[in-house]
Amino acid sequence: MSLDKRKARRADTGETVEVVFGDGVIAEVRACYDEPAAAAEALPFISPGWIDIQVNGYSGFDFNKEPVTAEDVLGVTAQMHKYGVTTYLPTIITGSFELMEQAARQIGSVCDTHELAANSIAGIHLEGPYLSGEDGPRGAHPREHTRDPDYAEWRQLQLASGGRVRMITIAPERAGTREFVSRLAEEGIAVCIGHTAASSEQLEAAARAGAVLSTHLGNGSHPVLARHPNYIWHQLGDDRLWASFIPDGHHLAPAVLKSMVRAKRDRFVFVTDCVALGGMPPGRYRSGIGGEVDVHPSGRLSTAGNPNILAGSSATMADCVAGGMRYAGLSLRETIEAVTQRPALVLGREDLGRLEPGTAADLTLFRVDGDGGVTVLETIVKGKSVYGGH
Ligand SMILES: [Zn+2]
Repeated sequence: MSLDKRKARRADTGETVEVVFGDGVIAEVRACYDEPAAAAEALPFISPGWIDIQVNGYSGFDFNKEPVTAEDVLGVTAQMHKYGVTTYLPTIITGSFELMEQAARQIGSVCDTHELAANSIAGIHLEGPYLSGEDGPRGAHPREHTRDPDYAEWRQLQLASGGRVRMITIAPERAGTREFVSRLAEEGIAVCIGHTAASSEQLEAAARAGAVLSTHLGNGSHPVLARHPNYIWHQLGDDRLWASFIPDGHHLAPAVLKSMVRAKRDRFVFVTDCVALGGMPPGRYRSGIGGEVDVHPSGRLSTAGNPNILAGSSATMADCVAGGMRYAGLSLRETIEAVTQRPALVLGREDLGRLEPGTAADLTLFRVDGDGGVTVLETIVKGKSVYGGH
């Protein structure tokens, strides 16, 4: 077995280490006790590869257009690598059955034929179609395609993907939710709650049936809510539920993000929820998500009709890691945990998210700049350098 190695500072402890890997797994994490302090300071940080459980597209590549092509899947995968993500869930939003099936089939077929895509895609996230049709909660999901859970339809989508759907976001107020959540939880699918206006009773029933996470909690909601109780407070206070947050400075005001991560303690993950228009120049575009979308100079994406309704994000995972520190006041260790070991736990992937011998040699090397920005220097997937490096 040929071994490769990287010397860097662990993002969690700051300790200088040499990470040795071969055959796609970490062989050894060796502490370098005799490294002079000045030399150690100049080294990049190293962490397990970053994991993003919600990716709609990026830089023109899109999982929500017709038809989704192999280039879309490979293009997004390369964009993820560029920003430090080694593992992600392509996310298909609410659409007609035909549209969603085609996307699921295409993603599955690229995973069958491209090793790097298969190594980077941990499954598909269906965000919809069983979501609220109400303005506000539905966000940018097309109302005409939101519908009640349909187990037979779910099976067909899962089949089209080659069994790759790993996560689904549903709105618990939809008829038939409880049985649907129980069945999917039994199948090992991570059922999430989002784009919902559910009552406390409906949220409670979904959590009891096996729902595990609140999707981008605090977004996909009414602009104005009863102060309490409401569906945001209820999910914040439910310790059974993980939450995902988009720490881009647009989706949650910094004080809100900070309060929410503190309420959730260590049961939150960060997602980009990035879309195809992410990384594109400012202007008005036609998009699969939200129809007409304005890309603002600040990077904020909103529906053209209503600037208060966000239409996904243009954030990269590097932005989110920086955002966790900048907006939520987290330490580097905590913000990295929210994109490594915690999403690995949500996905039930013990081989990911930890810098330990025997786990996948998925590694992200990066630096934190003077202004708090984060720059990815190298991304390694299963021992193979896929971005940057020397
Ligand atoms: Zn959403």
